[in-house]
Amino acid sequence: MTVTLAELARLGIGSADLAAAFLFLYGLKRMSSPVTAPSGIFVAGIGMLVAVCASFLYVLDVSPAAEPHLLTNLALGVLALLAGGSVAWWAGRRVPMTAMPQMVAIYNGMGGGAAGGIAAVELFAGAKGSVVALAVTVIGALIGAISLSGSLIAWAKLQGVITKPVRVKGQQIANAAVMILTLAVGIFLVSAELGMAVPIVSIPMLIGIFFALSLLFGILMTLPIGGADMPVVISIYNAFTGLAVALEGFVLQNPALMIAGMVVGAAGLLLTLLMAKAMNRSVSNVVFTNFGDGAAKHNPAHMKGSLKPAEAGDAGIAMRYAKSVIIAPGYGLAAAQAQQKLFEFVKLLQGDGVSVKFAIHPVAGRMPGQMDVLLAEAGVPYDLIFQLDDINADFKTTDVALVIGANDVVNPAARTDKASPIFGMPILNADQAKKVFVIKRGDGKGYAGIVNALFYADNCDMVYGDAAVVLAKMIDAVRGLGSKQAA
Ligand code: NDP
Repeated sequence: MTVTLAELARLGIGSADLAAAFLFLYGLKRMSSPVTAPSGIFVAGIGMLVAVCASFLYVLDVSPAAEPHLLTNLALGVLALLAGGSVAWWAGRRVPMTAMPQMVAIYNGMGGGAAGGIAAVELFAGAKGSVVALAVTVIGALIGAISLSGSLIAWAKLQGVITKPVRVKGQQIANAAVMILTLAVGIFLVSAELGMAVPIVSIPMLIGIFFALSLLFGILMTLPIGGADMPVVISIYNAFTGLAVALEGFVLQNPALMIAGMVVGAAGLLLTLLMAKAMNRSVSNVVFTNFGDGAAKHNPAHMKGSLKPAEAGDAGIAMRYAKSVIIAPGYGLAAAQAQQKLFEFVKLLQGDGVSVKFAIHPVAGRMPGQMDVLLAEAGVPYDLIFQLDDINADFKTTDVALVIGANDVVNPAARTDKASPIFGMPILNADQAKKVFVIKRGDGKGYAGIVNALFYADNCDMVYGDAAVVLAKMIDAVRGLGSKQAA
């Protein structure tokens, strides 16, 4: 029995797809804990490499008609890989932690675009499959295209290229009309491809109109949403991209694409729900309402109490003489890139016998897990890091709560002020500590755009300045006391 090259290629593709799918799932499993996450990312990356290499085996299994283009196609594939790989390598090394959401938005959009591209190739190739295969292709194309254009608008908002939400009267009705029109064109396209309808324009033109409408819908859907809600929107588009990839995997009968797509889709959906829950908002509230617009009316002109500035050195020394300190980090820690300085300060306190813990709010920063990643990057041991539910009860027996660049996640208005946009969001109980120090640069507001009553409380002092600069001063002050660590 002789085995042809094409049969060998098919065997190789099947095994590689299975291996890639296993590596994706195993990598994802390892990403569920900060301890194993770096190796999880590595394993999933290997899975992606296997899947990419496997796709080159397809060229060995070609029809005679495609054979003349074999070398050109191979060269184009290698060129695309080199171009994409080098841009991603360069960008991945350069991008600061605070710009990660933008980067995720761009990569997510690329995923949606790739799924849309596969669908376009299938549609231009004409009706090869059943009505089901064509319908799945068109649905995948729609979702992929929306994800591409929507993610690009999300990137532009996070990057500050688009600075204001674009809202006009009757926008939601117009969006609904564009969606209905897109669906109608999609259904007509399927019928035309199957020869069940005669289009007024050519099929390629119909495909073009369908993609243009889908891309337009992604833009229109994202433009009115405020920049501050973009992380949730990106997560929604992440779910979309996963679904689009899975649907195109079904069309191509490619198990690696199907499994990777479903995993990304399910993870994106779960992340969206978890983020919305942590902010005590529904997903429809994020997409259809203008979060933060009403913030001005939630800013009472006269807060009870006053803002009390304190010197960085004095605050540092007060913590050196405390028994226990809980640190609540927020977006400002990432913006200042002060995580190394923070851990240096923590080690000094620990060396002098102070018990130090970190309290992490699920939506502190601008993307889920951002604080965990920052602290891990600085080398903070995991057993010092506690999530909200596990530490909140400890604040009332703690000497000092040190709030660094956090605002909304420690705002007591979330508990009591029904008119506040963050009402109902669980917060870190920093205000219940005996003494609170807040490090921030001035009177800048947080993501929700509201005043924070904690800053005016009797037990709270404000240490103004960039987090990295303030922490450096605190370190100097504690070292100046002749700390055991400094000796
Ligand atoms: P906030 O955005 O509420 O506050 C950050 C504070 O950091 C600001 O008040 C700012 O004040 C201060 N700050 C900025 N730069 C510096 C610096 N260099 N040094 C010191 N302080 C600085 O952050 P939180 O982390 O408390 O809350 C996160 C918010 O983001 C929540 O409302 C959450 O719902 C939202 N969100 C989070 C997502 C997530 O997945 N994590 C996703 C979407 C939204 P000043 O300018 O005075 O320095």
